[in-house]
Amino acid sequence: MNTIPQLTTNKTTARIRASRSIADLLSPLNQIAETSVNLIAKPFGRFEVGGESFELPCYLFIGPRGGDEPLRIGLFAAIHGDEPVGAYALVKFLTLLEQAPELARGYCLFIYPVCNPAGFQNNTRYSLRGRDLNREFWNNSTEPEVLALQWEIWTHAFHGLVALHSDDTSDGVYGYVSGATLTKHLLEPALDAAELLLPRNQNPIIDGFNARNGIIRQRPCGVLSAPPKSRPRPFEIILETPQATPQFLQEQALVAALQTILAEYRKFIAYAANL
Ligand SMILES: [Zn+2]
Repeated sequence: MNTIPQLTTNKTTARIRASRSIADLLSPLNQIAETSVNLIAKPFGRFEVGGESFELPCYLFIGPRGGDEPLRIGLFAAIHGDEPVGAYALVKFLTLLEQAPELARGYCLFIYPVCNPAGFQNNTRYSLRGRDLNREFWNNSTEPEVLALQWEIWTHAFHGLVALHSDDTSDGVYGYVSGATLTKHLLEPALDAAELLLPRNQNPIIDGFNARNGIIRQRPCGVLSAPPKSRPRPFEIILETPQATPQFLQEQALVAALQTILAEYRKFIAYAANL
């Protein structure tokens, strides 16, 4: 007798939990963008799937003028829709930058908080068309999210790309490096900064790859990245937080890591200019 009402309740709860609002996530940013001199909302790549219409949110944060050419960095989150922590971290990061624009001096940041909008909404790793979008890049993909993101990555020719993820099999923070040789020297201090909030994954094998001090030098094929033949190679970092830890700490750890990457890369560019 009790079984049926019990099941109904669980199903309803599951449905409520599974539906996440992109509008709610972005509303503080859109509010800031209305009056900010630094932050611009620039959604792109409208597409339709399953009778529903989606677009990819994008924000530009233009920091105070630095050296010569502004450094263009792309920050990406939630290409896996069931890893929303990166999206919330980017909202926090932009809110912080709005209060302290100096942190972004010399930068033009391109922020993509929700790279898989349908997945984010439904709390699924895959897109609504059932694809792991993070295996589709530069691979003749026809997925609309991937085509739109590839176009952005291609046209802006970023100096650096950072992708945010959270891993349900890891009990610590870790990251992947590729691209420019300096990348490892950006990730090391970024992980140090994150480690003030969460432990670092020190396992010799993480996600099936050899790892050292929480740093992996290989990555799966087709992940969101710079075009394979782009030269000079930008730095490319993937940051992973332990999904089972409190969300607040994961967000703070990612914000601290991103702040560190901007500070360290700025130092590197200034040093290189004086060589
Ligand atoms: Zn992921």
